[in-house]
Amino acid sequence: MGFFPAQIGLQTVMALIVQKYGGTSVANPERIKKVAERVARFRAQGHQLVVVVSAMSGETDRLIKLAKEIQAQPDPRELDVMISTGEQVTIGMLAMALIERGIPAKSYTGSQVRILTDEAHTKARILEIDEQRMRADLDAGKVVVVAGFQGSTEEGDITTLGRGGSDTTGVALAAALKADECQIYTDVDGVYTTDPRIVPEARRLETITFEEMLEMASLGSKVLQIRSVEFAGKYKVKLRVLSSFEDKNDGTLITFEENTNMEQPIISGIAFNRDEAKLSLLGVPDRPGIAYGILAPVGQANVDVDMIIQNIGVDGSTDFSFTVHRNDYQKTLDLLNNTIKPETGAREVRGDNKICKVSLVGVGMRSHAGVASKMFKTLSEEGINIQMISTSEIKISVVIDEKYMELAVRALHKAFGLDSATPPAKG
Ligand code: ADP
Ligand code: ASP
Ligand code: MG
Repeated sequence: MGFFPAQIGLQTVMALIVQKYGGTSVANPERIKKVAERVARFRAQGHQLVVVVSAMSGETDRLIKLAKEIQAQPDPRELDVMISTGEQVTIGMLAMALIERGIPAKSYTGSQVRILTDEAHTKARILEIDEQRMRADLDAGKVVVVAGFQGSTEEGDITTLGRGGSDTTGVALAAALKADECQIYTDVDGVYTTDPRIVPEARRLETITFEEMLEMASLGSKVLQIRSVEFAGKYKVKLRVLSSFEDKNDGTLITFEENTNMEQPIISGIAFNRDEAKLSLLGVPDRPGIAYGILAPVGQANVDVDMIIQNIGVDGSTDFSFTVHRNDYQKTLDLLNNTIKPETGAREVRGDNKICKVSLVGVGMRSHAGVASKMFKTLSEEGINIQMISTSEIKISVVIDEKYMELAVRALHKAFGLDSATPPAKG
């Protein structure tokens, strides 16, 4: 691998690097041996390494399915006991693969490291990391292998960090150890303008700003778990996304400075998300307190609301729509029909769980007008109806019918000059 370390920005002097390998990168013994090979190369260059691994691809899904065969709504504490096992297998395997190559290595589960989390089983947050054991091993010349996705509570109960949580383990360890760089190795060679599985013309970005990455992750690009990006921002971790399958480039660096290059495209990326559902309450009395009357019970039922739209009132009544995670659709629909509709005196409840959200993201939007109108024009030319719109400084999201998602993403990718064959849009 020619690019490291000179081009990647690390000194030839010893650096402390945290590397995280996702499910497809440790999918079988051969892939795990490949990981050990890369780790060995970095170590031979004099670097200290902490390696975080996910479960083998498909394993976490398999375990969740198994749990559901026992309990339709698995007990969260016990589910964490089960689904954390996937990573315990791969840390042992990787440590063995390293030892087999003659490299001293030691594996740790989250609780052995002492990755302390809160008690929110299946979506726990990291509170504190004890880096002493890892530091001692590194000083003794060992490679430290840590299970991603898991931690433990003050009481010693096993917790998990939410799907995709190994990214967060990686970045959190890098922050705790003040590592020189955190490298997220996956099955694509960086962050692309959009998911390359949906748009083959998608381009790899050399850099993306932290703010843009945060939006992309929160709007559905699962290449990095959002919490890992939040951690990187909070602790200024140097974060890079790279391929574990090929070493031909430097991947994508998440930067903390905005690129002031005038040629910088206005839109950096397009994110999409199929996990949402829309609910509407029609003919609600238009009076103070109505939004609270609708959304307070929804919040009390532990349902997070994303977009909200309230129409202008006509003749004393209005329509109110909002989106929730698709998993919460039925629960929210029942709540609207059984409780909120009678309490508010609304005329009708409507629901649609076949929607998706498509979002344009780019810091360039701050200084350029016309992005929204170009987006709406592009969608109208494809005959796609927009159901909801929401904007912030650096993003525009629309809700559309799920069946047009790919068409919309492709059309927008082209219209905004993101396709690999075309030059970036300038205005
Ligand atoms: P891992 O198992 O390594 O954590 P993930 O499946 O969680 O990998 O994330 C990598 C996947 O993210 C890619 O295979 C790709 O399909 C998807 N993805 C979604 N949006 C993007 C994007 N903008 N750039 C790159 N990959 C993306
Ligand atoms: N194995 C966990 C999952 O599939 C964590 C991860 O891969 O990041 O969600
Ligand atoms: Mg992932």
